[in-house]
Amino acid sequence: MRQRICVLGATGSIGDSTLDVVQRHPERFEVIALSAYRQMDKLSKLIQTHRPRYVAVADAAQAAAIEKQFGASGPAVSHGEQALSALARLPEVDVVVAAIVGAAGMRSTWAAARAGKRILLANKEALVSGGRFMVDTVKAGGAILLPLDSEHNAIFQCLPGDGSKTGRTLSGVRKLWLTASGGPFRTWPAERFAAITPEQAVAHPNWVMGRKISVDSATLMNKGLELIEARWLFDCMPEMLDVVVHPQSVIHSMVEYADGSFLAQLGSPDMRTPIAHALAIPERISAGVKPMDPWTLTGLTFERPDLKRFPCLQLAMQALASGHAECVALNAANEVAVEAFLERRCSFQGISQIVSDVLERVKVQPLDSLEAIEAFDAEARRIAALHFPA
Ligand code: NAD
Ligand code: MG
Repeated sequence: MRQRICVLGATGSIGDSTLDVVQRHPERFEVIALSAYRQMDKLSKLIQTHRPRYVAVADAAQAAAIEKQFGASGPAVSHGEQALSALARLPEVDVVVAAIVGAAGMRSTWAAARAGKRILLANKEALVSGGRFMVDTVKAGGAILLPLDSEHNAIFQCLPGDGSKTGRTLSGVRKLWLTASGGPFRTWPAERFAAITPEQAVAHPNWVMGRKISVDSATLMNKGLELIEARWLFDCMPEMLDVVVHPQSVIHSMVEYADGSFLAQLGSPDMRTPIAHALAIPERISAGVKPMDPWTLTGLTFERPDLKRFPCLQLAMQALASGHAECVALNAANEVAVEAFLERRCSFQGISQIVSDVLERVKVQPLDSLEAIEAFDAEARRIAALHFPA
């Protein structure tokens, strides 16, 4: 039987890559539902190509426009935040691809977890903010969480199986090594950082991605968020995690074993590889990826991350060591600051300053429900926004 798929965040970069892989295997996959937030023209094209039964958009006006365009033969259209969760819960859906950017995707990811879906997770912020609460919901709901993030997918591929097709253990594992490209400013002296523009920050040397994650890669906050993501995905203590800068992005991450073995996953930097892996597991399918050519690999290099020039990584490590609320605040403050940076209301270095300030000022508390997490996230955003008086 074909796998029935819902892509939340279908118009984004991960959405593109996912639908590209899906379209190569019509005998395996069927697109049931798509969500989009802003790009209605792109959504229209996706509806024509993939013929989903359901779509969700941001507001009533967008919904009316799509309904008008496609009429009775088109998909059922809904709108708003609840519509995303409703798509994630649809009984006709087996696989939910969580590809929304930011904590905005947390509630729908949580809905997929409760409904026992197979979740292909790109939306790392949902796990950073959801923390233990999210992984407990996955377990209780009988859901399966598979990583699309290239580092976590690489680690997943290198970990021992637990006897099921989709589970992994840490048996015999000493350490998980996340590789980082170092971003576009890896070799820049600190003096130049004050003048960094959004255009320079989103021009990633190895990967083509959405704007927010591109800025996160430039500040190394992305690697910090990925440490927190790994902590929950693999249920490992923070001490087991480390980051190594590997500018060529050939090795996508490594697992170190007790006997001294390191297992690594290598390949071209193309998200369709981890997506195809997670879609087809335990089989392997073509992904349209230009294969890595070992003859062209000249020198793989490794360096320590520079926490002085890239304080966001340090802040994320501290949040991970401190607790759940700190991770929620870190993520929320970063989202506000990155948006401001992209709109030229904040400098590149201002991003880490705002995150640091919010972490100092926010009153940490235990977060034992989705509502409590959302309220705390909102409070951290409110404090971050104080840096940008209207
Ligand atoms: P993107 O900006 O290209 O796409 C984001 C998608 O989310 C779009 O479809 C957009 O419509 C939707 N969206 C944005 N805000 C929304 C909101 N408030 N409510 C509902 N939908 C909303 O981003 P991307 O690069 O595809 O990244 C998506 C997620 O995947 C991020 O969490 C990112 O960290 C993660 N990720 C991306 C890559 C990559 O190569 N692009 C790699 C690893 C992880
Ligand atoms: Mg990554």
